[in-house]
Amino acid sequence: MSDVAFAYSARSEPVVSLTDLRIETAERVFLRGASGSGKSTLLGLIAGILSPQAGSIEVLGQDLLAMNATQRDSFRASQLGVIFQIFNLLPYLPVGANVTLPCRFSAVRAKAAAEAGGADEEARRLLGRLGLDADAVWAKRSTDLSVGQQQRVAAARALIGRPGLILADEPTSALDANSRDAFIELLNEECDAAGAALIFVSHDAGLADHFNRALDLADINTAMEVV
Ligand code: ADP
Ligand code: MG
Repeated sequence: MSDVAFAYSARSEPVVSLTDLRIETAERVFLRGASGSGKSTLLGLIAGILSPQAGSIEVLGQDLLAMNATQRDSFRASQLGVIFQIFNLLPYLPVGANVTLPCRFSAVRAKAAAEAGGADEEARRLLGRLGLDADAVWAKRSTDLSVGQQQRVAAARALIGRPGLILADEPTSALDANSRDAFIELLNEECDAAGAALIFVSHDAGLADHFNRALDLADINTAMEVV
């Protein structure tokens, strides 16, 4: 990202304003910042859900702002895996269908999953790697799982079809310390195996040691100084 400025409306002050942010291929970055400091907004910009008023954003070699909205949606579906704090899963779909969903939205991810043995096989493998009994949870509604289990299902869905970049927005805030550390380690291992970069957002600075690099939004974001 270069010289990016973003405000939610023309009259409000910028929420994100940064001169330079570069994340390397397969790098795993911890992004911390106080509540309301603009972490989710920054992820929204990287995901192409929000568009900045100024600057340039390149993701996996593609110029996001040169794309139209449809191209950005399809880029996001095929190249990004996203895990949110809440509202991760479609409650009316069983776990298996939730995990394989990206393969229905993106031919690129369907192809990558097919090469790994098929979408269902790959979904089961990922669920197992993330510490779930795939057979036991496959047909369950996600609402019948614990929060910790739901976060693992959401991680499997983000990882299926090997997207190049995983964005995780406070995915562990509802977990206890033990399941939180285990979840982060599993997520890191799977990103490593897939060669995916990871941007992991949290307000909990104590998690930084799990990652290659820690960034504080206050250090890269000059928006706070704008009057
Ligand atoms: P964080 O994720 O670090 O808690 P956010 O990126 O959600 O912070 O929010 C940063 C700032 O932008 C906050 O002041 C918040 O109130 C504001 N904001 C977030 N979303 C919107 C929105 N959709 N419309 C207007 N302001 C918003
Ligand atoms: Mg947030």
